[in-house]
Amino acid sequence: MRISKTLFVTLKEEPADAEVRSHALMVRAGFIQQIAAGIYVYGPLMWRVLKKVEQIVREEHDKAGCQELLMPALQPRELWEESGRWDRYVQEKILYHFEDGRGREVCLGPTHEEVITNFVKGKLTSYKQLPQTLYQIQTKFRDEMRPRFGLMRGREFVMKDAYSFDADAEGMAESYAVLRDVYRSIFTRCGLRFTPVEADPGAIGGSGSEEFMVDADTGEDAIAVCHATGYAANVEKAASRIPPPPAIPAEVPMHKEPTPDAKSCEDLRALFPDLPLERMLKTILYRAVWTDREQTVAVMCRGDRELNVVKLTNHLDALAVELADERLVKEATGADVGFAGPIGLKKDVLLLADSSVEGVQGFLCGGNETDTHYLDVWFGRDLEQPPTHDFGLVQAGDQTLDGEGTIEITRGIEVGHIFQLGTKYSEAMGCSFADENGKLQPFHMGCYGIGVSRTAAAAIEQGHDESGMIWPLPIAPFHAMIIQMRAGDEAQDALAQELHDQLHAAGVDVLWDDRKLGAGAKFKDADLVGIPLRVVVGRDAADRKVEWKPRVGGETEVISADDVLPRIRAALEEAGVQIG
Ligand code: ATP
Ligand code: MG
Repeated sequence: MRISKTLFVTLKEEPADAEVRSHALMVRAGFIQQIAAGIYVYGPLMWRVLKKVEQIVREEHDKAGCQELLMPALQPRELWEESGRWDRYVQEKILYHFEDGRGREVCLGPTHEEVITNFVKGKLTSYKQLPQTLYQIQTKFRDEMRPRFGLMRGREFVMKDAYSFDADAEGMAESYAVLRDVYRSIFTRCGLRFTPVEADPGAIGGSGSEEFMVDADTGEDAIAVCHATGYAANVEKAASRIPPPPAIPAEVPMHKEPTPDAKSCEDLRALFPDLPLERMLKTILYRAVWTDREQTVAVMCRGDRELNVVKLTNHLDALAVELADERLVKEATGADVGFAGPIGLKKDVLLLADSSVEGVQGFLCGGNETDTHYLDVWFGRDLEQPPTHDFGLVQAGDQTLDGEGTIEITRGIEVGHIFQLGTKYSEAMGCSFADENGKLQPFHMGCYGIGVSRTAAAAIEQGHDESGMIWPLPIAPFHAMIIQMRAGDEAQDALAQELHDQLHAAGVDVLWDDRKLGAGAKFKDADLVGIPLRVVVGRDAADRKVEWKPRVGGETEVISADDVLPRIRAALEEAGVQIG
């Protein structure tokens, strides 16, 4: 394809609002254009990338026996009432929903569990038809609270979603394992470095789930990994072993001390330098919200640990859990923020504790009175230990649960998420099949998502330098680029045309910069759009000589024009890309 005949417009300036490189570079290179927060036009170059990702996704699913279909984006409220998710999605404000011309409520699909379950109902009727996995590649709509980072978190984005149907939990686990392999193949074929991690299933529900994280320092997700044991989990879900502090004798009775303005552990350390952080117990107040009620929840935690709201939300099975504001703290404790404690909280406050407090004695805690703390407090003696659960946030340096290794925290971009749903949707929606004895059973389902547009952005997040994008060959908009130094030079015109036609005929996606522009501007653009394989047709064109100048990795070399196609073929083969 000749650049002079295509819509190829790059910008000198980066967009002011871009917080991550992929966003800035895609806008500068004309790959995307934002038309409203989180809503983008995918330009021709971007669309080529998305189609390549889609094609890999498609091929790997098809290879594993999954069947492609296409479901509607527009969905009636009734289906969401059947699954019982309407209220939750509306309350979370993630759902785009409105009344149609006939006064019926509809939404734009943020996900398709309801539609697919409804689709198979009455079609998959016997155990003999199982297992089956169906998938689609489609635009999803989510009114994300904070759309940002370009294609990473859009309000309209391309997703592949697959759904498996099995007769029982074992079958579901098998389908899940197949899809897990499919995911590994997909991201490997895309040329990405990634880590599969244990994940929190979130609002989708169900048991076991894993996320596929593209390794990138700019990723939104923090991941707990241990190289010694191979453990990898999203910190939302990760657990670690926290040894209790050394035991101390119980000699001193509990006493109340004035602690003016000492609201944080740091302030308290200044007052009580001999008391280790493990024996300063924080009490953090939250407001938990369910569809029909809300409650103030107080959670105790060691001074050297932090709480994980996701674990707390799951434990409470709440819609949302947020830090209590000043007013709520005052209401629950009678004190200003910074002095909450377990003793003397208002009756309707639910008191819980992170398991890190187990075995901690002789501790400090808030006095539920401004400028006051209790000291030398003992569970059992001075108050009952509240029910404990793992609400903790894993920290770098923690031991793994088995004690076999040390945890590190790295960052990643979630590009895929797979779930074992169980019978949640099939039961709610009355979707069943007849088993061997003719008895009706609900399906055991799995669901499997890949953010297609997010994957493209993640590739750039992982592959770029100060000059621009560096695409992995398998998903690059073009495999190769011919940079012609002087358009209009007879020998160069002829050789560039010949190479272009030859590569094109061989099935290589080739972009030819034939513009009447200076060499500097052309190289700048070539670096920006990041096509991996490059050939410069210049001075030596009359001798059928060109420069081989890959975007990264490799010196510039003068080679014969006849060697271009074999070199490109070799590079494609090495990257696992088939052509022609
Ligand atoms: P996140 O935690 O990032 O919001 P999620 O858990 O809501 O993601 P899923 O519902 O599992 O995501 O969706 C499947 C995949 O779709 C995700 O793994 C991600 O790659 C992609 N995805 C989700 N939300 C967005 C979005 N707003 N923009 C782009 N891609 C998204
Ligand atoms: Mg989300």
